[in-house]
Amino acid sequence: MTVRTRIAPSPTGDPHVGTAYVALINYCFAKKNGGKFVLRIEDTDRARSTRESERAILDSLHWLGLSWDEGPDVGGPHGPYRQSERSEIYREHVAKLLADGNAFKCFCTPERLEEMRAVQRASKLPSRYDGLCTGLSAEEIAKKEAAGIPYVVRLSVPAEGVCVVNDLRRGAIEIDWGSVDMQVLMKSDGMPTYHLANVVDDHLMEITHVIRGEEWLSSAPKHLLLYKYFGWEPPQLLHLPLLRNPDKSKLSKRKNPTSILFYKAMGHLPDALLNFLGLLCVMPPEGEEIMDLAMMTDRFAVEHISLGGPVFDVSKLDWLNGRYIRERNDLDAFMAKAQAWGFDQAKLRRIAELAQPRIERLSDLGPLLAFFFAGRVAVNAEELRAGKLDDVSLRKALQLATWGFDALASWQTAGIEAVLKDVAARLDAKLREVTRPFYVAITGSPTSVPLYDSIDILGRDIVRERLRVALEVLGGVSSAELKEWAK
Ligand code: GLU
Repeated sequence: MTVRTRIAPSPTGDPHVGTAYVALINYCFAKKNGGKFVLRIEDTDRARSTRESERAILDSLHWLGLSWDEGPDVGGPHGPYRQSERSEIYREHVAKLLADGNAFKCFCTPERLEEMRAVQRASKLPSRYDGLCTGLSAEEIAKKEAAGIPYVVRLSVPAEGVCVVNDLRRGAIEIDWGSVDMQVLMKSDGMPTYHLANVVDDHLMEITHVIRGEEWLSSAPKHLLLYKYFGWEPPQLLHLPLLRNPDKSKLSKRKNPTSILFYKAMGHLPDALLNFLGLLCVMPPEGEEIMDLAMMTDRFAVEHISLGGPVFDVSKLDWLNGRYIRERNDLDAFMAKAQAWGFDQAKLRRIAELAQPRIERLSDLGPLLAFFFAGRVAVNAEELRAGKLDDVSLRKALQLATWGFDALASWQTAGIEAVLKDVAARLDAKLREVTRPFYVAITGSPTSVPLYDSIDILGRDIVRERLRVALEVLGGVSSAELKEWAK
């Protein structure tokens, strides 16, 4: 048997460091065992999936030095490797489940499902489909279909007993069938859900080991049930602990940037970042921390994966990155990397254009432009507060802009300007009152070179982080505020 592993990202946002961590482990496991590593794009959520996100994920993993034997960009014998291109395959499999009585059509309206959930919530029961449509006769189903009533297809789940999930690292875990939902497998628009597509593809792509984040452990019973219904041998399962902040909370972008693109923009070197992720799952040799991919692969062992949450400790990453800068680059290599990071001609030209009308001596350039070549900038709370906006409006402006920028499909001056104008309109404030604190947050000073261009040149990831820092300086945003402002 050839070992085959996969990473199956959903292209719904920035490339996450957790994806790289899981990819690295899958890569090492496959290569250590002389196997193949596959990349599959799980884009069944059509509303949230984008090609830009897919591109960014593939580019970021490549940038880190990871490669795959099969995938949407390199092809392979089990393609297509994008789920949106495999609809027909899923339809056939759903038809088989229905024919065998292992799935059923559910005609319940969203209103009825909401009522059902409200009752369950009130009696503190787990939210779970109550099985109403399992009782429909063949005639009733035919009648509803003829009337054009939309339906989803749900998984039939045993009424009682336990499911045993065998995890390579955690051993046997028992989960009551009673707690497993009759999962929707196919939505009313004929698109499969993650669970169905994931199982069908793992089988057809001959994946032998499914290694993924522990958030999927509770889905394992549904998946195992599908393997059983189809008469397939399930893969071995390994659920990895989630990355944590140093305070042990779940890594989340509200506390710390999670995008690989951010670390790239901060000037972390790809081999240092990969090495850092490797230290979270591979035991380095005694007294050493520097490991390249070949060494990590060689030393990889499932038993070494600790089940306590690995800590994504940025200070450790910085320390390691410093070592790479000093020890793994001669002066020429260092200069080339620094130049590629932040001093390319196109960027310098744009910055020069902004600076030329605003200086008296060339020596003004350094203080005026330093913020373009920095990660975070020092932000003073008094400076932030010095304008006309009160504290709540200030925080709201920073938060709305963060959301607005995140929603921009392309990062350009015009779109950036539109976001800030929209924020001003929502706050019923003058644009100038709104942009003032943004100058402070973005450039570190209330006056500087033009704001929209600066934001554009700095890029999405650095800007998001500077706004996050400014919000933190102002005391942060409460969940209640987030909820209210999200409307
Ligand atoms: N598409 C899922 C994700 O984004 C994959 C989970 C799995 O590996 O099964 O995490």
